[in-house]
Amino acid sequence: MSQPPSVAIIGAGMSGLSAATRLRQADLQVTLFDKSRGSGGRMSSKRTELGTFDMGTQYFTARDPAFAAAVAQWRSAGWVAEWQPRLFRYDENGLAPSSDQQQRFVGSPRMTALSRGLLGDLPLHSNTRIEQLQRSDQQWSLLDSEGKRYGPFDYVIVAIPPAQALPLIRDAAALAAPAAQTEMEPGWAVALAFSASLNLPFDAVFVRSGPLDWVAREASKPGRVEAETWVLQSSPRWAHAHLDSEPQAVIGELLGALQTMLDAPLPAPTFQHAHRWLYARPAAISDWGALAAPAQGLYTCGDWCLGGRLEAAWLSGQHAAKALLDAT
Ligand SMILES: Cc1cc2nc3c(=O)[nH]c(=O)nc-3n(C[C@H](O)[C@H](O)[C@H](O)COP(=O)(O)OP(=O)(O)OC[C@H]3O[C@@H](n4cnc5c(N)ncnc54)[C@H](O)[C@@H]3O)c2cc1C
Repeated sequence: MSQPPSVAIIGAGMSGLSAATRLRQADLQVTLFDKSRGSGGRMSSKRTELGTFDMGTQYFTARDPAFAAAVAQWRSAGWVAEWQPRLFRYDENGLAPSSDQQQRFVGSPRMTALSRGLLGDLPLHSNTRIEQLQRSDQQWSLLDSEGKRYGPFDYVIVAIPPAQALPLIRDAAALAAPAAQTEMEPGWAVALAFSASLNLPFDAVFVRSGPLDWVAREASKPGRVEAETWVLQSSPRWAHAHLDSEPQAVIGELLGALQTMLDAPLPAPTFQHAHRWLYARPAAISDWGALAAPAQGLYTCGDWCLGGRLEAAWLSGQHAAKALLDAT
């Protein structure tokens, strides 16, 4: 019997995991590579003694029927749960309850529970930054930053943000040209813990004025440790202007913005941590789904191919897997 086609997937964030699970279902041999310690990408959680903080994806919604069906399975598996925050909005008129009725989900007990669940027993080379793809005899080899070679593989899916993907896909114009024109926006995320309850009337706020974009109380999410832990996220515009700021300065400014929003001083946090995202979200929405160079057995996917949300990343991975399966 002939071997099933082999596929290397570079990037184990939502889009790479989505493609991997779909291709595994079709009995292809899938191997994932990620430069980080584990899977999840921007669906990231920081673990501390005070509980976890979701530093990337805050929650997700499910509008597409296929994605909604996948979310229903993930709920049954216990990887995700519905989150019903007391939601407010803040703008130049001040703070007020939000009328947004959207159903929201989060990984439980942390956002990375979802990536862990999706990864399952799929093979992942973590701490492995792929720097080069080489093609010979209709197959691909991968070279990492240490010069180590992997392969050969019949197909490659590059499931990483466009600036990082470009060096790998530059010889495939159908992939490289859209990637080169895609701009990603940065963001700062700050984790804070306080020794006592702040007694605020909300669990999360859409912020539409000043440096902040979003504020959420971690413990209001299902499965979290009961603690006064918060995540603040900056607006992309503010992050652009503060890309090279020191983390301590960012914490001070975003904490100050929170106090301005509350119109009240806050106690000193007992824990604080800042994370900069260089490629937080695409600046504009695209409708490519995924990009394919079938003659070369090369595909690329990611939220930037469809639109800045976890759902888009999952759908993009499904598009890449379908395009690849259509070519086998
Ligand atoms: C701060 C923030 C808040 C967000 N909030 C929300 C939200 O509330 N709701 C929502 O729906 N979406 C949100 N998003 C967007 C959502 O997180 C992304 O759309 C989604 O996670 C993108 O998945 P992806 O697979 O396209 O990319 P990524 O998650 O970026 O995955 C790419 C992976 O590739 C790896 N990688 C990169 N280069 C290489 C290389 N050369 N070799 C090997 N591995 C490599 C990276 O380590 C990473 O793991 C947020 C994003 C951020 C940053």
